[in-house]
Amino acid sequence: MSTNVRSGSERCPCMSGLPLDECCGPILAGERKAATAEALMRSRFTAFAVGDRDHLLASWHPRTRPRVLDLDDTLQWYRLDIESTSGGTPFDTTGEVVFTAHHRRGGIRGSLHERSRFERLDGQWVYVDGVVS
Ligand SMILES: [Zn+2]
Repeated sequence: MSTNVRSGSERCPCMSGLPLDECCGPILAGERKAATAEALMRSRFTAFAVGDRDHLLASWHPRTRPRVLDLDDTLQWYRLDIESTSGGTPFDTTGEVVFTAHHRRGGIRGSLHERSRFERLDGQWVYVDGVVS
């Protein structure tokens, strides 16, 4: 699935309005760290959208990281709405992001509403877990 090649000038799947190579692209490539929990959340959504398992696993807290990550390749993640954030700035060690991620499979649309928790581990934001509501 990492063969899902996108041009860097394309708009980032996380809906920031920025080109991929100025937004989540360098974070997925490991060239830049996410400065905030929200930036990491966005990069993980983008990783889901482009099927980047490596980034999803690398940005997962070692305590909660799944051993194997099965991505549903038939599910297309096409829209992210960040609803609220708390903490998660460069001055925090924990953060929460509430979001709705929209997906479709064939013509059927669905969404995931989640409150995700993040921690800063060795200077790097990582995803801990989330509560789906
Ligand atoms: Zn992005």
